[in-house]
Amino acid sequence: MRRFGFHVSISGGIYRAPEFALAEGYGTFQFFPTSSRTWTVKRPSDDDSTKFASIASRNGIIPFAHIPYLCNPASPEKEVLEKSKRLLVESMEICREAKTEHIVVHLGSHKGAGLEKGMENIRGTLTHALDSVKHVGILLENTSGYRNSIGSKMSEIGAIVESVKSSRIGLCFDTCHAFAAGYDIRSQEGVDRVVDEIGTYIGKERLGLVHLNDAKYPLGSGLDRHWHIGKGYIGRDGFANMFRNMLFGSGNFVMETPVNEEGDDRTNMEAVAQILKSIE
Ligand SMILES: [Zn+2]
Repeated sequence: MRRFGFHVSISGGIYRAPEFALAEGYGTFQFFPTSSRTWTVKRPSDDDSTKFASIASRNGIIPFAHIPYLCNPASPEKEVLEKSKRLLVESMEICREAKTEHIVVHLGSHKGAGLEKGMENIRGTLTHALDSVKHVGILLENTSGYRNSIGSKMSEIGAIVESVKSSRIGLCFDTCHAFAAGYDIRSQEGVDRVVDEIGTYIGKERLGLVHLNDAKYPLGSGLDRHWHIGKGYIGRDGFANMFRNMLFGSGNFVMETPVNEEGDDRTNMEAVAQILKSIE
């Protein structure tokens, strides 16, 4: 079974996110557990967290959290690294209260300090977070390969997974980022190749979530610019080929597509339905 949904807002209370997902008929959704723009974590009340968990579980909707963008688990600056650790732990605590099993984390940027130093910091940050908060897993998201960013190659993510040694660490595969990083997922062979890499370096069973986004710029651009499903450089045929691979035959798919006009989310959901119909 495949579940689809979008990144949704928690403004007005954390439980608004599953409430909205339910109203829109999503099978899954993603949310920021705390403001995406500040280091200060605002904790939801116990009542709000309970309400969140019950709306999601009663309706079989799977929630995923996404770490706020400020978090840089690879930062060479001591202060930023400490703040990032705290932000991750506190975000995971909110997940635990709201019965959200996974949080998506970007590996961040080594800011010129070098890949090795960056990887060492990431390992420290993740190990600390997993030790501090039980029952919440971390999904590492592949990145677009922009300057100094870590995790655009499955092998880099695999190296982290291998060294952290936890059953609570997995992969969030972002289609736009993979394409921007040079994985040509438009063709069947290209899809099969990246799935092979996931199997070799990370383990297919560790795939916890797919970020389903088209790309606004061509293959290998290194640019993290999401676009509407079927209207970007990956295109309808690209997504059709992707869904033909068994790894994407079931699971959770969250779109982080832009909203340029009201109704864009519904249009994107409809585009996915049509692509799936075309490969039946
Ligand atoms: Zn993403």
